[in-house]
Amino acid sequence: MFDNIEKTNLNEMGEFGLIEHLTKNIQLTQKSTIKGVGDDAAVLDFSNQKVLVSTDLLLENVHFDLRYVPLKHLGYKAIQVNLSDIYAMNGMASQVTFSIGLSSKFPLEAVEEIYEGALIACQNYNVDLIGGDTSTSAQGLVISVTSMGYAEEAKIAYRSGAKEGDLVCVSGDLGGAYVGLQLLEREKQIFLENPGIQPDLEGKDYIIERQLKPDARKDIVQLLADLEIQPHAMIDVSDGLASEILHICKASNVGCKLYEEKIPIDPMTYETAREFGLDPTVCALSGGEDYELLFTISQSDYDKVKGQLDISVIGHITEASAGCQMISKSGNVHDITAQGWNAFS
Ligand code: ADP
Ligand code: MG
Repeated sequence: MFDNIEKTNLNEMGEFGLIEHLTKNIQLTQKSTIKGVGDDAAVLDFSNQKVLVSTDLLLENVHFDLRYVPLKHLGYKAIQVNLSDIYAMNGMASQVTFSIGLSSKFPLEAVEEIYEGALIACQNYNVDLIGGDTSTSAQGLVISVTSMGYAEEAKIAYRSGAKEGDLVCVSGDLGGAYVGLQLLEREKQIFLENPGIQPDLEGKDYIIERQLKPDARKDIVQLLADLEIQPHAMIDVSDGLASEILHICKASNVGCKLYEEKIPIDPMTYETAREFGLDPTVCALSGGEDYELLFTISQSDYDKVKGQLDISVIGHITEASAGCQMISKSGNVHDITAQGWNAFS
């Protein structure tokens, strides 16, 4: 796996040497960071803002497969998926910790790659890397990221805030990350059967990037603030639209009506799904890992979002007893289930 790079054995460096090596160039930019790496704990000051905290654990061969995820992308993605949870509260992210467990197969150069990706993400999203933990792992690579952020109390968007009559909105487009994964899986299989064949991913950059280098929608949080829209409920789309809208409806004790024709799907996602014999709508509903934001807004805010290319209104919130439904392109009504939609109802 690391055949073409120089290898330095981590045992020669020791844990402290490694931490020093990885963190020596970190620069702090957030005014809420008082102390970062280098003491027993970091020190933060959020003045009178509410503090948001979220954490993720990523395990090799459970959450990622190093046979097709480049290490730099992995470091980047580990940070951005976690920041996405802070943005999904309608907050701004400001700090992260980054912890890694490394098995003996990883040389220093591999860890450097992971860290480089993580630090690029921190820079892109303007968050400080303020600490972490480093350990050996008996088997495989383990990464854990915790992010911290802040919001004014009245701006925080919980899953439980949706109200009857709200419009359901989603940012960007859906299904791309899942279809990108299908492509990578296919190429991995071909490679395993015949290592001489080069992957054929030409022209598929967008969906490959959606899978390998997704982007948390900090810009949407900023856009909503600029448009003076307070989302009533919000969640990030990590498991697929169906699962996320059900979380909002359950937490808010409401129902919803979504319209299949309104679900934003990129043309490349659409065509490639078809090539794989997949229904593009199902990819959007159940695919996951798109890291777009799904949120509800008051109907009176419709004029503010209708001209926004990056926000689609895909339905509305109903009373709980009406259930969670999707109207298909042909006008049939289906129940939305965590797996997607119930094609037999
Ligand atoms: P302790 O024994 O108290 O856990 P460590 O030696 O693990 O201390 O950590 C020393 C400092 O280095 C702490 O500030 C910690 O946050 C930081 N640190 C350790 N591992 C990492 C890492 N992977 N990334 C960033 N900072 C780290
Ligand atoms: Mg430690």
